[in-house]
Amino acid sequence: MTVNYDLHCHSTASDGTLAPAEVVRLAASAGVDVLALTDHDTLDGIAEAQQTALNESLQLVAGVEISVSWKKATIHLLGLGVATDSQSLVNGLQTQLAFRSWRGQEMARRLEKDGFLDALQGAQSHCKGSILSRTHFAHYIVDSGRVNSIRDVFKKFLVPGKPGYVSGQWVSLEEAVSWILEAGGIPVIAHPARYKFTRTRLRTLLDEFKMHGGIGLEVVSGSHSLDETRHMAVVARDHNLLASRGSDYHGPEKPWVQMGRLRPLPVNCPAVWEHEHWRGGAS
Ligand code: AMP
Ligand code: MN
Ligand code: MN
Ligand code: MN
Repeated sequence: MTVNYDLHCHSTASDGTLAPAEVVRLAASAGVDVLALTDHDTLDGIAEAQQTALNESLQLVAGVEISVSWKKATIHLLGLGVATDSQSLVNGLQTQLAFRSWRGQEMARRLEKDGFLDALQGAQSHCKGSILSRTHFAHYIVDSGRVNSIRDVFKKFLVPGKPGYVSGQWVSLEEAVSWILEAGGIPVIAHPARYKFTRTRLRTLLDEFKMHGGIGLEVVSGSHSLDETRHMAVVARDHNLLASRGSDYHGPEKPWVQMGRLRPLPVNCPAVWEHEHWRGGAS
């Protein structure tokens, strides 16, 4: 039997809508054998997820999805199998948290000009953890009745050039990779097809990533089409990167993304879990 890996998902510790324990139970019931909880810029959900995994037939990998600023773009970097008590990682995530708090106030100030009163409080009412995300603002704006879907809120208000967007001032790629490596984890570029980079730009990103010690590329993602997956398998091979597989599950409100149902890795794609530093279990 092949092992069913899902190495990317979210809980209420960041912008997911299920608690860490619920995410773990759902994954186990969906047939996932190894699950990485990878909340945005926080490790807060890991302890609860690990505790729950003890009672399920599932191995929990401590993970994180770090927001990174790279050449005016924001990219997402997964850290898989990190030690949750690593000082450089914990301190680093603290600076990301501080930026998120400032950004939340700034987003609210801008959205108020568009008539969304009390946007900060509104977003916070959807936020169950310490990480305030654009997704929480999106939920609040959908509640207001002025926009129908989360997707439309992003398109109209929360992406570059739109009124509620504040550009990210996240950690650099080099530093984020070093936090993960110092925490004993495996750095993986998340959902590479989502950045809409040209081939040249993607190559530049991955060359830099490798140079800093990067190891993996998320070839199979809940947000990749079959063509994108095939393309990224080739890109991974060309750059000597190990392939990862993750749903990017955020909760039942996005029914098109499910856990346990991902495509297998394409053939001839060495996997991140075959890396000598892979740590499947608890940190
Ligand atoms: P943040 O890290 O707070 O800037 O928020 C980024 C999160 O917003 C991503 O992880 C997604 O969950 C969500 N997101 C980004 N773009 C979209 C979109 N176009 N539609 C729906 N959700 C999105
Ligand atoms: Mn998210
Ligand atoms: Mn992401
Ligand atoms: Mn994600």
